[in-house]
Amino acid sequence: MMAKRSPLVIGAGPAGLTAALQLIKGGVTPQIVEASANVGGLARTPADGDWRVDAGGHRFFTQNEAVSDMWRALLPTDQWTVVPRRSAMLIAGQFVRYPLRGRDLLVQCGVRNGLRGLGSLMWARMSTGPRVSNDLTSFRDWGTYQFGRRWYETFFDGYVRKTWLTEPSEIASDWANQRIKPIDWRPRPDVSLDTTDVFRYPRRGPGQLWEAAADALKAAGAAPVLGAEVVKAQFDGKGWTVTLRDGRTVRGDAVFSSMPLQNLIQALDPAPPQHIRGIASRLRHRGLITVAVALRTRYDIPFNWVYTPGPEFGCGRIQNYGRWSAGLAPAGWNGTHLGFEYFVDGVSGLWDADDNEMIRHVSADLHAIGCGGSEIEHIMVTHSQYAYPVHDASRERSVQRIRDHLAANYPALYPMGRNGTHHYDNQDHAMLSAMHSVEKYFGADIDPWQANTNRRYHESGLING
Ligand SMILES: Cc1cc2nc3c(=O)[nH]c(=O)nc-3n(C[C@H](O)[C@H](O)[C@H](O)COP(=O)(O)OP(=O)(O)OC[C@H]3O[C@@H](n4cnc5c(N)ncnc54)[C@H](O)[C@@H]3O)c2cc1C
Repeated sequence: MMAKRSPLVIGAGPAGLTAALQLIKGGVTPQIVEASANVGGLARTPADGDWRVDAGGHRFFTQNEAVSDMWRALLPTDQWTVVPRRSAMLIAGQFVRYPLRGRDLLVQCGVRNGLRGLGSLMWARMSTGPRVSNDLTSFRDWGTYQFGRRWYETFFDGYVRKTWLTEPSEIASDWANQRIKPIDWRPRPDVSLDTTDVFRYPRRGPGQLWEAAADALKAAGAAPVLGAEVVKAQFDGKGWTVTLRDGRTVRGDAVFSSMPLQNLIQALDPAPPQHIRGIASRLRHRGLITVAVALRTRYDIPFNWVYTPGPEFGCGRIQNYGRWSAGLAPAGWNGTHLGFEYFVDGVSGLWDADDNEMIRHVSADLHAIGCGGSEIEHIMVTHSQYAYPVHDASRERSVQRIRDHLAANYPALYPMGRNGTHHYDNQDHAMLSAMHSVEKYFGADIDPWQANTNRRYHESGLING
């Protein structure tokens, strides 16, 4: 009976590939359809000759053994590097280390500014009380409580505006406890000696891991079909038929979907009622354009990431790829390889800019960071339309209503992953929701939508081995 099962997996990103690997482990061979020409989804690594681009700067970090085991099983130890986490915010020409340290805040930006910031933090704590850090509230309220108004405005307000292209008061704070570390007040004279804040990284970028996953699937007879965009998913009471953009159809007993939740709702046949389609159509995303620039001159930037919240920068963050892995550039190359991140509305503005226009934006940002004088050796531009599922005030309730409707009306449909559940997840949680979906398919009493609901899960520490 098991041999007749033939589930369909939509998307060959981390969630889709994980679901497929788990299905094979359970004795079932899935069919995987992927809209783009690559595997890896947002964590792909596009290449041009020996140049490789990580569109987001993907730290491999998890507190989950099953995820960690899968990463280890897919890539041999010598294909991983261990990278010290070094990030900073570039504020008024100065690199301020992030996560923020009390000592830097009090001294680096001037003692007077430091004392003002401290006063502002004390005022925020006294006037608000501890309630706000736990309640679902706006990002602005959360940030003001965590950092005081002054430091919140200096470090976070501009970045969040750039990332989400909206007022921080319009953004929910439910993701922030996981993503943004509090101020570290421990008196450590030299944090560069801290060896615990490190992460793993595949030598040739995150896509190397997902290409290895696709190879493993191919060897098991389940190679992902690329260039296969699902436009319709039909349930006829017995099973599922998905229709691809080119008209081909694929049939299966279940659907594991990592396509954006609102697109899945549009694709369903029979169509959900108008009110569910309406809710789904209001789920929003932010897009991302990453411009990777290789400069002939070697600049010593001692950070992997530099956040650029100020208006003098068009980008919101800069990756320093040389500090991630030498394998992202040709062997022996000795210049500076940077990735500029531009957050965009996926349907307007910069989204339509051609490469020449993006190069003009990057040139301005190169001047702003002090690297304007160098000759450019190589440029790559990558677009990610569904980079960030927006967490606005209505997201939680909207997703719940969609989830309940799907559970009641579409048997054997498993939305999973970051965009599949419209939840601002990293790879590990996207993978976990895929693993839980497969467990449910095999009969476990588990709710895959709860894979990332621990607000206290913090992205620090590491990774076993
Ligand atoms: C800027 C940035 C930085 C990040 N940094 C980190 C980090 O440091 N660490 C970390 O762990 N994670 C990080 N992430 C998150 C990580 O990229 C995601 O959590 C992960 O890629 C989600 O996997 P997924 O499979 O759920 O979704 P995706 O990666 O979005 O994959 C979904 C796949 O489905 C395909 N698809 C969509 N629609 C269809 C359709 N209709 N038919 C067929 N296929 C379809 C897409 O083409 C895509 O390949 C970052 C993300 C961004 C944007």
